[in-house]
Amino acid sequence: KVGKEENLRSPICCIMGHVDTGKTKLLDCIRGTNVQEGEAGGITQQIGATYFPSENIRERTKELKADAKLKVPGLLVIDTPGHESFTNLRSRGSGLCDIAILVVDIMHGLEPQTIESLNLLKMRNTEFIVALNKVDRLYGWKTCRDSPIVKAMKQQSKDVRDEFNTRLARIITQFKEQGLNTESYYKNKAMGETYSIVPTSAISGEGIPDLLLLLVQWTQKTMVGKLRYSDEVQCTVLEVKVVEGHGTTIDVVLVNGVLHEGDQIVVCGMQRAIVTTIRALLTPHPMKELRVKGTYLHHKEIKAAMGIKISAQGLENAIAGTMLYVVKPGDVGVEDYIKAAEEDKNSVMGRIDKSGEGVCAHASTLGSLEALLEFLKTPKVNIPVSGINIGPVHKKDVMKAGVMLEKKHEYATILAFDVKVDPEARELADELGVKVFTADIIYHLFDQFNGYMDSIKE
Ligand code: GDP
Ligand code: MG
Repeated sequence: KVGKEENLRSPICCIMGHVDTGKTKLLDCIRGTNVQEGEAGGITQQIGATYFPSENIRERTKELKADAKLKVPGLLVIDTPGHESFTNLRSRGSGLCDIAILVVDIMHGLEPQTIESLNLLKMRNTEFIVALNKVDRLYGWKTCRDSPIVKAMKQQSKDVRDEFNTRLARIITQFKEQGLNTESYYKNKAMGETYSIVPTSAISGEGIPDLLLLLVQWTQKTMVGKLRYSDEVQCTVLEVKVVEGHGTTIDVVLVNGVLHEGDQIVVCGMQRAIVTTIRALLTPHPMKELRVKGTYLHHKEIKAAMGIKISAQGLENAIAGTMLYVVKPGDVGVEDYIKAAEEDKNSVMGRIDKSGEGVCAHASTLGSLEALLEFLKTPKVNIPVSGINIGPVHKKDVMKAGVMLEKKHEYATILAFDVKVDPEARELADELGVKVFTADIIYHLFDQFNGYMDSIKE
């Protein structure tokens, strides 16, 4: 029988990579197979996450004959691929994502957002496995539905295998250029130093069993300490959303502990910390077909690890990427929690240059702002920041950046990462001569700013 006595929680897994590499499809593929056969195999869809129980993983990996003891209860895969959810899964600067899948298209190799993802993973010191996706697109590929990759590879012609090897070697070289050792997982003898590559097809399912098994085996082998279940609530806000009938809600990932309906919670807000009470703990309805839009299952309590929607009053100004605190019954006051919540925000917001000279940095959430600031601070980049904000760029932000026009003209610049610029703000910026650079890849902001600096020097 499975060794549940260790009481581990499910590892949390994020999917990252360049657009169109198949992140969504891969998730669908992992989720889908059993659902189509009419048995979901215990898979539950949660808010912003999907839970795969070990039984399901064992069933799907049995062909690999790993007869591995699965010690974790399952795997919690975050549904919203991309850097947004990864950067928001944070706790005081460290990452809460236990492991990531970095998806690379075998036909395209490393692309700009692959490198962006790599940089974020490095910054947060997060383990990852490369899914080398779309192997079915190799010319002449013979479909071996849902088969382990080594078995599928044996079915292929020599031409297919040659092309595969050529592309794999090229991609391993590209990773090396980024300072990383990688190797196909079935040859990798030094996991931990060398990152594993699992060839996959999200269309026909080759390699998916390997990917699932590797995720679970690797996390439970190397992260037992981190995965030991704890009663101490550890919870982070992934998204702030308005939902009909519930007002403003927050989508959270509960990493550890238990949340109850009626718990008093403290969440970081734009102006000050928000103290409120959980009105409802919600997850999607399990029977998809019967699901009426906007209806949720209500829970009295929920245990980690889970993706949950929380409905409560006063969440309008909550900030994604911050920690949620629960006031324990019997605690004297909420002051300590308010302080903790605000400290978290201040530790990020307080990272502006002491000289008062620098650009303004904007991002959509605290998590992505933190990632942007960390990047701007790295020695090879080294762009000073004098002002920061979360959310779209408004006129007042342009005014603020305009202050630099007199001090250091080139710093009258806003670097906007993954946020919108209000048209009026854009107009005002043109009028005043404030530069506004936008990008959804952090280092593109660096490129744009550098280009601008060079043009000034000329
Ligand atoms: P995302 O942007 O990374 O989420 O990529 P999607 O999952 O939306 O996939 C982008 C496109 O690639 C879609 O047309 C998919 O059908 C296709 N695609 C994804 N995975 C595979 C694969 O393994 N094989 C093939 N042939 N196509 C794929
Ligand atoms: Mg997608």
